[in-house]
Amino acid sequence: MKHTLINKVVLFLMMSTLSFANIYQTDRDVSKLHPKLQRVIEAVQTRGKVQFFVTEAMRTSERQLYLYEQGLSRIKENGMHQQGFAFDIAVYNAKGKVSWEWRDFTPVINEFKHVSELLGIKLVYGYDWGWDAPHIELDKREVK
Ligand SMILES: [Zn+2]
Repeated sequence: MKHTLINKVVLFLMMSTLSFANIYQTDRDVSKLHPKLQRVIEAVQTRGKVQFFVTEAMRTSERQLYLYEQGLSRIKENGMHQQGFAFDIAVYNAKGKVSWEWRDFTPVINEFKHVSELLGIKLVYGYDWGWDAPHIELDKREVK
């Protein structure tokens, strides 16, 4: 009886720690993304013309809400990240350093546009919105 109660408490603590950690941690596992996104990412990497890495792929609803409340995302729920239809990248500048400068995203985004066109996969770029350069998502027509 006692043992069961302790188990329940331990389980509860483990679960709360897990969901607590969830909202702060980014999931970079590309294999959870829509297969079409995986194809584009793989092709850009294989061509090797630009240097980038995925900073966030799949996102939980809890983390999306957290980002919204922190003002880090404009989307409160049902975002493309939660469905595996979007990912964020970081890029390297000419000196090989990780950069968040808008101008350093330009060649990488152009390469993504070129490659996705070659593959016939329509993407939408936060870069083109003018405020979310790292964000790339599948065009809605691709996921119908
Ligand atoms: Zn994003």
